[in-house]
Amino acid sequence: MLNKVYNILPGFVQNLAIEIHRDLRLFAYEFLKAEKSAKCSGISKNVLEGFNRSRRYGPLKHVCYAPYTSMFFSRSGLVSPCYASYNSESSHMSQHSIREIWFNGSFRKIREEHSTCNLSSTCKFCKDIMESGSYGSLLINKYEHYAFSKSEYPVIMEFELSNTCNLSCIMCDSNLSSGIAGADCAGTSGNQHYKSRFFDELREFIPYLQLAEFTGGDPFMIEEYYKIWEMISVLNPACNILVTTNANTMNPRVERFMDSHKKISFNISIDSLQKENYEKIRRNGNFEFALNNIEKFLNYSRKNKTQVNILVCPMTVNRNEFADFVNFANEKQICVYFHTVIKPKNLSLKYFDKNELGKLIADMEKQKFPARTKNEKINSRNFSNLIELLKTWYDDKDSEPEAIESQKPEISTEEAEKILRDKVLTHSPHLADKFDELLSGICDFENADYVKMRLFNVKDDEFFEYLADKSISDLIEICRGLKK
Ligand code: SF4
Repeated sequence: MLNKVYNILPGFVQNLAIEIHRDLRLFAYEFLKAEKSAKCSGISKNVLEGFNRSRRYGPLKHVCYAPYTSMFFSRSGLVSPCYASYNSESSHMSQHSIREIWFNGSFRKIREEHSTCNLSSTCKFCKDIMESGSYGSLLINKYEHYAFSKSEYPVIMEFELSNTCNLSCIMCDSNLSSGIAGADCAGTSGNQHYKSRFFDELREFIPYLQLAEFTGGDPFMIEEYYKIWEMISVLNPACNILVTTNANTMNPRVERFMDSHKKISFNISIDSLQKENYEKIRRNGNFEFALNNIEKFLNYSRKNKTQVNILVCPMTVNRNEFADFVNFANEKQICVYFHTVIKPKNLSLKYFDKNELGKLIADMEKQKFPARTKNEKINSRNFSNLIELLKTWYDDKDSEPEAIESQKPEISTEEAEKILRDKVLTHSPHLADKFDELLSGICDFENADYVKMRLFNVKDDEFFEYLADKSISDLIEICRGLKK
C-alpha cells in the first residue's frame, strides 16, 4: 500500500520522503551502532559505520539485499544474487530447480555469510570496494531500493542466458559475443544450460517480479528472451524490463515487442560518436543504423515514460571523446555511465602510458558541463568519477608493485595457448586432440583466460601427467575449480 502511494508522488516529494526516512534511521543507528557492529563482525567498525552513513535509505538490517531480492542467471548456468557473486560453489541450473536454488542451494549459504557481514568469500568484489571507502560505487546500492520488499520470492531477475551477438567488439570476449566465440571457441556459443524445464519453472516466479534485466550477447538476437518477454506480458505486464543492447538490431519482431510492452527501459552500449572509430571498435556495427535505432528507443521511452541510458567503455581508442558522450547525453536528456575497463590491457587506460594519461586527465579537468537538470547533474558526476578513477591509476603507476609488474615480460593468453600447444605437439603429439578438447571445454568459462594462464604456469611434468592420466571431464572439472 505504502509503495503504491509512494509511486504516485511527484519526484521531489519522493526525494524528501527518502531524506526524512534516512535521517530517522541514522538517528536510531547512532544509539544502536555498538550492537550492530558486534553482529556485523565481518566488516571493521569504521568501514561499517562509513557504509551505513552512505546508504540511500540509511542503515538497514542486511548489508546487501541482493541475496534476498535478486537472482542472476549466468551464461555458465551458475546462479547467484548478482553478476559479481557466482563462482564454482554457486548452484547450477543443470542440477537444481529455480525453487531449490532460491529457497536453499547456494543462496542459503550466502545469506548465512551475510548474517555476520562476511563478504570475504562470495562477495569479495564488494568487500574490496567497501574497504576502499568508495561506497558510491558499490554494486550493493543497486539493490537498496528493493530492501522493503515483503515478497518471499525474488523481485529482480537478471538474465544472461546466451552470448548470441551480431557484433565482435574489440574489447569483448567469447563469453559475451558469439561472433568472437565462433572464431576461437566453436560449439560453445548460444544458450548452453537453460532448457525447457527452466522456462516452465519461471512461470512460478514471474508474477512477483518488479524488474527483469536482459543482457547477452545482444538481447534482441536471443531467441529465449522473446519467450520470457511473452510470459511476462501474460503473467506480469506491470513488470519493468531493462534491455542492454548495442542498438544494431531493429526488425518487425523488435518493433512488435516494443509495441506490446510499455515498461521497457534501454541501456545502450556505444563507444564512439564518430563513424570511423565506432565501426573500428564495434566490429560489424553500423554507426548510422545504431543512431537511428537510438532515436527509436528515445521516442519509445519519452512516450512510455521509461528510461534510456548510454553505457560507454572508456578506453585508449576513444579517450578523446569522453566529454562528447556527456554532451550527447545532456542533449538527449538521458544519462551516461562509464564502465571500468581493465582488460584487454592494450585498450585499458589503467595500463596506458603515464605521460599520455596525465595529459588526458588535464584535458578532462578543463571540461565544464551544465548541471541544471537531474540527468545533467548525474552526467557531470559520472564524468568526475571517471577522472577520479583515472587519477588513481595515474598515482598507482608510482607504486613499487606496479613498477615491478611493468618490468615483467608480458605474455598474452593467445601466446600462452600457442606455446602450450607447441609443447604438446613436440612432447606428446598423441595428446594433441585431448588438449584441444580441453581448451574447447573451458573456453566458455567466465575466467577462461585465467585458467589458460594457470595451465601455462603448471610445471611441464605435472602438466603432461595430468593430461595423460585424467579423463577429459575430470580435467574440465579441475579447471572449473581454479579460482583467483
Ligand atoms: S555484496 Fe556485492 S557481490 Fe555480494 S551479493 Fe551483494 S552486490 Fe553481489
